[in-house]
Amino acid sequence: MSGLGPERLSLNTATVRAQWNLAQCIEGCARHGIAGISPWRDKLHEMGVEPAARAIRDAGLRVSGLCRGGWFTESGSIDRDVIDDNRRAIDEAAALGADCLVMVVGGLAMGSKDLLQAWKLVEEGLSVTLDHARKAGVKVAIEPLHPMYAADRACINTMGQALDICDRLGDGIGCAVDVYHVWWDPELAAQIKRAGRDRLMAFHLCDWLVPTRDLLTDRGMMGDGVIDIPHLRGLVEAQGFDGLNEVEIFSDRDWWTRDPDEVLRTIVERGRTAC
Ligand code: ZN
Repeated sequence: MSGLGPERLSLNTATVRAQWNLAQCIEGCARHGIAGISPWRDKLHEMGVEPAARAIRDAGLRVSGLCRGGWFTESGSIDRDVIDDNRRAIDEAAALGADCLVMVVGGLAMGSKDLLQAWKLVEEGLSVTLDHARKAGVKVAIEPLHPMYAADRACINTMGQALDICDRLGDGIGCAVDVYHVWWDPELAAQIKRAGRDRLMAFHLCDWLVPTRDLLTDRGMMGDGVIDIPHLRGLVEAQGFDGLNEVEIFSDRDWWTRDPDEVLRTIVERGRTAC
């Protein structure tokens, strides 16, 4: 399989979050020919939703996703403020014309060991949010996170688990496939097939470094780790996925310390050679 040109890449703003605000990310994508962007909400709020939507449109960028909604579990019950915040996130995704709202669903409730309860809260929260999302015309993408985050970030940890929820909730909800979180799963190929085109809503790229020195902020640039990215991309494309390939790298020891234009240049180069 040949590599990805920048016209098939999107920049998740977390990749240069230490260096650039959203306006700079938008300009950077335009400068490097990267076709899309996926803003995090903190950067979006800093710039303002309307000015950001305008700047993204003016730069001709596609919005491959908005990061992120979710966090349904922390208080141990369905929390009105959390639901309201998820509804606002849906409205923001609509204003940006985002391909989806990415959901990091939350881990165990504070002080709890009750995983079953956490799963139940997540499904309830997603269901309520989905009602609003359908009216707004926004797709909701559950991002299964690597199981090392089950306690503190997301208790949905495999594609299979996410798709079971999607099966129960119906239209408008699917998955964000992040290679970092799912590359190890022996059922991955079967579950990507099960998802099918309509439920493959986002595809996130980085690499798994060996050793990984930090659970959260030591992701690698594509090509520097052990994930067979071309193979995984082939699996989603075989289902007809034609969204952008979103680069999302948390890296406080390396890429967050570099000149952001060097980071984007490297992304474009690795898109061609390692993806
Ligand atoms: Zn991701």
